Amino acid sequence: HRLSTNVRLFSTATEQAEISKGNIEKKEFQAETRMLLDIVARSLYSDKEVFIRELISNASDALEKFRYLSVSGAPDSNNLVETDRALEIKLITDKQNRTLIFQDSGIGMTKDELTSNLGTIARSGSKSFIEEIKKQGAEQASSIIGQFGVGFYSAFMVADKIEVFTRSSQLGSPGYKWSSDGSGTYEIQEVEGVPVGTKIIVHLKTDCREFADDDTVKSIIKKYSNFIGSPILLNNEQV
Ligand code: ADP
Ligand code: MG
Repeated sequence: HRLSTNVRLFSTATEQAEISKGNIEKKEFQAETRMLLDIVARSLYSDKEVFIRELISNASDALEKFRYLSVSGAPDSNNLVETDRALEIKLITDKQNRTLIFQDSGIGMTKDELTSNLGTIARSGSKSFIEEIKKQGAEQASSIIGQFGVGFYSAFMVADKIEVFTRSSQLGSPGYKWSSDGSGTYEIQEVEGVPVGTKIIVHLKTDCREFADDDTVKSIIKKYSNFIGSPILLNNEQV
């Protein structure tokens, strides 16, 4: 465990400056998640662009969950942050830094949610993927990824590092940074200056730099994300 205070972590076109606060905790992915990440990272699956659909669909789910909570009168809705923020999905391409950023103002995640949602493969798609791999062998990974989808983890097809900044919409929740290079471990740290919602910074592998190109990303969004209920902005322009 390493202590670091007041280090400026990130500041770019999104005009935010997160300040690291707590200790960096290093955690291991579950064995099955490790296996999945390993296969995904080395996969020759040709439709790598689907990671954009997956991350937009997660952002859209997060916004839907927030909307639902804020009108449902569910017990949790009393503890929701007051909001007049825009409920939208923002993508930012940055060729120089070779990044693609996804930001939503949805429900966000607590520390426990971060650990269980992005550290395990509770979701059904990833579970079926692993079961099929065990049956058919890792050589079949490409066709199996296509069949089952691997959600968030699909971003490791194109990324050598992913950073997630998130703050739950539950009142009083601190912000966190989650980061991983997809190889066995991830780190979590409390961070100040994170708005409610989730920002995912995908650091692209050198041979995947095309996903930091505005036109390329725009056409992928148009191809897959027609039916998303929230506005999608790419480099501050509505797609
Ligand atoms: P699925 O979307 O099928 O549940 P994913 O692998 O795509 O599986 O995502 C895993 C989980 O991580 C989601 O169920 C959700 O709880 C959490 N998650 C992912 N992205 C976000 C986001 N942008 N905001 C809030 N939670 C998210
Ligand atoms: Mg998903």
